[in-house]
Amino acid sequence: MITQDELSDWILIALGELDGSARRDRVLRVMEGSLGGRLTADDHAPRTNGEAAWRNNASFARKELVAEKLLLSTAQAGHGMWTLTPRGARRSRALRSRQDASLCPAFRSIAARVAWSTTAGRSVGLVPVEPTFTDNALLKLATQHRDRVKIQRFTAHEEAQNGADWEWWIRDHHRYTGFRIQAKRANPRTGRVALDQPAAGGAPFDKQVEAFVNRCRADGVPGLYCVYSDWQPRSAGISGPGPCPHGPADAAQWGCTVLLAETAHRLATWKRCDAETVLAAGMPWYHLVCDPSESLIVGVHRVFKRLMEPEIAIRGDNDQAPWRDFLPPATQPPSQVTAFFEQGAQVLEPWSDIAGVVLINASSAGASSITDS
Ligand SMILES: [Zn+2]
Repeated sequence: MITQDELSDWILIALGELDGSARRDRVLRVMEGSLGGRLTADDHAPRTNGEAAWRNNASFARKELVAEKLLLSTAQAGHGMWTLTPRGARRSRALRSRQDASLCPAFRSIAARVAWSTTAGRSVGLVPVEPTFTDNALLKLATQHRDRVKIQRFTAHEEAQNGADWEWWIRDHHRYTGFRIQAKRANPRTGRVALDQPAAGGAPFDKQVEAFVNRCRADGVPGLYCVYSDWQPRSAGISGPGPCPHGPADAAQWGCTVLLAETAHRLATWKRCDAETVLAAGMPWYHLVCDPSESLIVGVHRVFKRLMEPEIAIRGDNDQAPWRDFLPPATQPPSQVTAFFEQGAQVLEPWSDIAGVVLINASSAGASSITDS
């Protein structure tokens, strides 16, 4: 059930969108639109006065806001009118900019869409392939967050079929964090994730995953797999789709699950490639960008840490599992990346055989420096 504190924030956000003042009913309608699936059956259950519980609770939240001098009292605003004070307007602006800045809703909706397309696709024998899922995900990010996300593709679509690594660089207050992602689709029929796929001809490695881990290590950028599926993990996993400020605990969030490339390598070696096991070794990808209070970079480091700790514990002294030291997210981007963020360079030259690069400017002050080319 949604808490009164959350409702208070949403009242301030809704009133900001309504230019600071509106009748109660109008505020609640706007809130309901924003809250969407976050309202549970309990929230909708009617109270004795016949009104949905969350609407009733919103009135209590509003009383608190008046006491905190963030909203005008009934005597000042008029009966049935909810109105921000100047202080409330400032708080509303701050809350709304934090809302806008989050990439989490886009990540969540991409994962839910992957899970849905997989289920729907299976029923008609037409589940999209990896590059299609990846293209759709990147397209959504680039179009929904034009001011912040810039994507450049280096290789042709056909090459991407043989395992494409996308390199991600996030800039936040003059710090950087970088990692690579290779996508893998679970077999829609068997649930098998082909982490043991043979490497492309001519490569000095047997498996694609070995080649990926080695490329990442050579370049000092850690690698992640992103698994597309509509499967559920065998156990709750490292971190499941818990409710976040951007949405409910939704099982479809396993649609895009990230795990360490090293974990993928271990699972391939141990021949544990079923989706239930693979997903349990990872976490829904929105965790990479869902950290409402802190910087995006802190959030990315936290995800890597949470993925590494169980992997280190599982490996223990097992000599069968190579690479017991793990790369943390990279902090030193290629000079082209810094030139892009700091000098407005628009075109980047391909490097290290990556399929392309995703550039995210998370520093609010610098967000406007990314322009549409
Ligand atoms: Zn979130």
